[in-house]
Amino acid sequence: MSDPVTTASSAARSPAAPPLTLRMHALDNVAIVANDGGLPAGTALPGGPVLRDRVPQGHKVALVDIAAGAPVVRYGIPIGYALRDIPDGSWVHERLLRMPEARGLDGLPKATVQAAPLPPLAGYTFEGYRNADGSVGTRNILALTQTVQCVAGVTDFAVRRIKTELLPRFPNVDDVVALEHDYGCGVAIDAPDAVVPIRTLRNISLNPNFGGEVMVVSLGCEKLQPERLLPPGSFAIADERQAAGAEAALDVVCLQDDAHVGFMSMVESIMRQAEAHLARLDARRRETVPASELVVGVQCGGSDAFSGVTANPAVGFCTDLLVRAGASVMFSEVTEVRDGIDQLTARATTPEVAEAMIREMAWYDAYLGRGRVDRSANTTPGNKAGGLSNIVEKAMGSIVKSGSAPISNVLAPGEKLRAKGLTYAATPASDFICGTLQLAAGMNLHVFTTGRGTPYGLAAVPVIKVATRTDLARRWHDLMDVNAGTIADGDTTVEEVGWQLFRLMLDVASGRKKTWAEHWKLHNALVLFNPAPVT
Ligand code: CA
Repeated sequence: MSDPVTTASSAARSPAAPPLTLRMHALDNVAIVANDGGLPAGTALPGGPVLRDRVPQGHKVALVDIAAGAPVVRYGIPIGYALRDIPDGSWVHERLLRMPEARGLDGLPKATVQAAPLPPLAGYTFEGYRNADGSVGTRNILALTQTVQCVAGVTDFAVRRIKTELLPRFPNVDDVVALEHDYGCGVAIDAPDAVVPIRTLRNISLNPNFGGEVMVVSLGCEKLQPERLLPPGSFAIADERQAAGAEAALDVVCLQDDAHVGFMSMVESIMRQAEAHLARLDARRRETVPASELVVGVQCGGSDAFSGVTANPAVGFCTDLLVRAGASVMFSEVTEVRDGIDQLTARATTPEVAEAMIREMAWYDAYLGRGRVDRSANTTPGNKAGGLSNIVEKAMGSIVKSGSAPISNVLAPGEKLRAKGLTYAATPASDFICGTLQLAAGMNLHVFTTGRGTPYGLAAVPVIKVATRTDLARRWHDLMDVNAGTIADGDTTVEEVGWQLFRLMLDVASGRKKTWAEHWKLHNALVLFNPAPVT
């Protein structure tokens, strides 16, 4: 593969540059300051008020006088209510706002927006690995599934030896990854919600980037037995081999097996089994496939007020391109769409899809309620320092990633994707949990937007990171793959960055380009979502 993607770094908008504010909607009575370092008090905004306070970059300024109790409007909706009179030119920070109540889940519009179909986008392809189940991989990776955390140390030891002793003999295999997790035992495995971590782990093992070469390392006495994790018939490829009489349905190395005498005997069992899988993976070659085989998961993390202005709208434009090309796109993060649920249920293709979305919101409301919190627990100190006053403002910027296409499917956490088009895959907003659940859904490419900056990556799937600000893209020039901050700088448009991202996706999916996270081999842990009790 070639060198990593280089980030276009245009000149940062210095504090000395002319004042620039960004307003998202004609109804908005606030705008955000775009200049690096913010703007000092006394600055006259073009066509607007003179600043009464210093306003940090990404933070809001009142464009008109806002009376106590009146709505503060951004993205055309009230993101809060003024706790006191806010004169024009004031810094509108979180302490001046009362957050609105969450929208009730009754009486929501269902499939009321019947937009004209987006025109098809034909002729785009990438080079991928076609799998026996019809899915397409963007990388060719051997994954070692683990039933339980107990085996993690042994598996990790074996994987290090596989990488140094076996992998060099199989040059068409990109990597070997251990699917380490903290589940499998010490858990209430028959609790109704245990279905979430179990199906997540099962479906991750079947991710398109693993080529159907399922291999399991088990301890022996754990609650999550291999046949419960991957029951016969749950994975198509091994079944086909079994039908041909080639090998057993599920390849399991059990550490407590009587045949194992000493640690090295366990390690050698894992290596011997891995070698057979590596040989089959190595025989595969990339082939030209339509862009419709992309399965893209989008999410954001370390968001700031620019997320909803630059990176997320560009991703949303790209989402529409992908849907037009017949591909699959997932957006997620329940607490970051909860305040925009009426917009989303209206965009559902059918009332049933809208109801599935409402079910996921209600389930999550109850889940948070059990912990005596609500969606407002989402925002971080960094979000607020970046200008996001509360979860309502954050959510309005977050759902922009979903573009404008109709929402045609809904997944519960850990479920596998059922259809192409735009899917709402319900997940927590936590970056690593969302990424883990999108892996389970079958994503073969991940797009991640960030304003504050995070070096996030996944071992199984390339992660394209999009910076919301030029300042971040400049400082993190060897971690960010795309700079959407050029939109706020006035150097590019949302459409241009959306197309740039779309073309980059095809290059990265084809293996022609590596992302920076791949280049540095940065990846976060798999983190299963376990809403069920532990014992
Ligand atoms: Ca996130």
